[in-house]
Amino acid sequence: MNSNRKSLECDYVVIGGGIVGGCISYYLSGKNKEVICIDSGEFSGSNSNAGSIHVQLQSRNFRLNPHLIDNLMENLPFYKEAVNAWNRLSLMLNVDLELRVNGGLMVADNEEQLEFLYKKCQEEKAAGLDVEIIESNKIKKLYPFLSNKVVGAEFCAHEGKLNPLVANKSLQEVSLRSGVKIMKCETVNHIEFKNNEYCIRTNLREYFCETVIIAAGSGSGKLAECLNFNIPTIAEPLHMNVTEKVSMFIPILIQHAECSITLKQISSGNIIIGGGWPARIEEESNKIKIKKESLFGNLTTAVNLVPSIGKLRLYRTWGGINPITDGNSVLGNMKGHENVFFAIPGDAGYTLGPLCAEVIVDLINSKRNEFYSSKFSPERFLNNHKKMIIEN
Ligand SMILES: Cc1cc2nc3c(=O)[nH]c(=O)nc-3n(C[C@H](O)[C@H](O)[C@H](O)COP(=O)(O)OP(=O)(O)OC[C@H]3O[C@@H](n4cnc5c(N)ncnc54)[C@H](O)[C@@H]3O)c2cc1C
Repeated sequence: MNSNRKSLECDYVVIGGGIVGGCISYYLSGKNKEVICIDSGEFSGSNSNAGSIHVQLQSRNFRLNPHLIDNLMENLPFYKEAVNAWNRLSLMLNVDLELRVNGGLMVADNEEQLEFLYKKCQEEKAAGLDVEIIESNKIKKLYPFLSNKVVGAEFCAHEGKLNPLVANKSLQEVSLRSGVKIMKCETVNHIEFKNNEYCIRTNLREYFCETVIIAAGSGSGKLAECLNFNIPTIAEPLHMNVTEKVSMFIPILIQHAECSITLKQISSGNIIIGGGWPARIEEESNKIKIKKESLFGNLTTAVNLVPSIGKLRLYRTWGGINPITDGNSVLGNMKGHENVFFAIPGDAGYTLGPLCAEVIVDLINSKRNEFYSSKFSPERFLNNHKKMIIEN
């Protein structure tokens, strides 16, 4: 296929080359089907993420998105299976993604927070998670690097970490080897159905195909509008920090019951610190900019939790875009456009990426996926759309 041509034909166009679009492209390839993945960036949408494998409910959602909690709670089995989907992907890629599922801790430093964790733990256990509370007499023995203030924690055995840079690079390499055509730095600005096929227009050319997959993260809502659908996607700019390398001393993913923080030490020895501190999008350039308050706030929270981090040098800081909808993943097609599939992961979307891709590929192939639920269908937004039309 000559990618200099002004128009290209294929079986599937996948819009978005983050973890979701990347996996979908790879999973669809190699069956005598031509797959083109178009990404407005470098086929690395998710390079900005922290590589935490999240399964237990993150406390930040209780504070910032309490309206999403019911959805998130219902999805716990989906998160648990998402870890298995990462294992499957890792076997297919045959690369060490530094995927380590050795558990995650959510710590409390007062009785009220511990009470909150007891309740959360009970509900998560009922939903099938392998979780337990570690009380104050044990916590310092097991995790001596934690601050003396910590009075207990919830341990979730399914959690862990991986290296997103290795994962994204390996995914790209294997996709190219399986014949996926990756179009970088090309932005889709129009989708329409004409002459029995979809025409996808970018800033450079037109593509014609039978099936379109919209996996464009927070850009998906705008693309849905081309087909007259309202799928509200919000771009949430988030902040990250990483310290210099030190010998391994934090073996586990750490979060806090009340403060926004996730931290973990990756195989190279660097400690990656994030957890939902805001960055900002500069209006004129659309670039992600760092907020000083987040830089200091995030680091101070980390030092309060693991005091020895205070001695380390900050190596790098960056921001990225987290796509948000209503807490649930958006997976499936819509009436009237049965060959357009939306693939937007719910909260902690990197964790969910490979599983969302498996679900979408099964839907495309009309195969039953036991982890698919109709609550993921994008059709749930149709009622909102009708309501909006009536209100206007
Ligand atoms: C700082 C930060 C840290 C995070 N840490 C974690 C974590 O530790 N664990 C976890 O599970 N999740 C984490 N997340 C969330 C996670 O990164 C995202 O939910 C996930 O990567 C979303 O993947 P995606 O493939 O759906 O979208 P994206 O990775 O956003 O990819 C979408 C791609 O679509 C492209 N695109 C958009 N519009 C168009 C268009 N019109 N035409 C062509 N291309 C388009 C974009 O350029 C982008 O490359 C983090 C997020 C941020 C911002």
